[in-house]
Amino acid sequence: MRKLAPGRLVLASHNAGKLREFSALLAPHGLELASAGALGLPEPAETGTTFIENARIKALAATHATGLPALADDSGVAVAALGGSPGVYTADWAMQPDGTRDYAAAMARIAAEDRSARRRCAFVAVLVLAWPDGHSEAFEGICAGHWVAPPRGGNGFGYDPMFVPDGAALTFGEMTPEEKARHSHRARAFAALAAGCLG
Ligand code: IMP
Repeated sequence: MRKLAPGRLVLASHNAGKLREFSALLAPHGLELASAGALGLPEPAETGTTFIENARIKALAATHATGLPALADDSGVAVAALGGSPGVYTADWAMQPDGTRDYAAAMARIAAEDRSARRRCAFVAVLVLAWPDGHSEAFEGICAGHWVAPPRGGNGFGYDPMFVPDGAALTFGEMTPEEKARHSHRARAFAALAAGCLG
């Protein structure tokens, strides 16, 4: 597995919530994070049908555009009673006709469509680290739990207020960033990345 040298790393995302979480995760590792948004990089079309395909598309686009190693995250929530939906289409479920995202509406849609008693779901994150020569490494993190309605808490981003991880009583939206990182799919995928590629 290829090691990442200390220096600058591009985060291939325009998502402010992901940027905050990765900045905290990378801080102890001597890596300076530049975001695709701050560098003015275009967002590539996510034409894949799996998290890993979409993460690879984003990481390779960012590393080729900048000449720097790039980290991409493709993530979403998979609802058991909906056969894993919205899955890779999690962001699309929040999309409004005017191009803005409405997460309250997306969470309400999950509550309307999942009529099961157990409300099982999981957050999934796939991270891809890519280098300018086209080499890449991929890591997955999963956090299983259940959804609640109405959503609770104003912390975090996206679908955080509807998700309670197994072993916790609070939603991600009610947790501090540090508490969320003890459970989260993104922190778990990052731990695998750090073990393989950092240090
Ligand atoms: P992506 O940016 O194409 O990977 O879309 C990810 C989707 O999943 C977005 O709608 C996010 O809001 C949602 N998502 C991913 N990770 C999280 C999380 O940690 N909390 C809440 N929502 C998340």
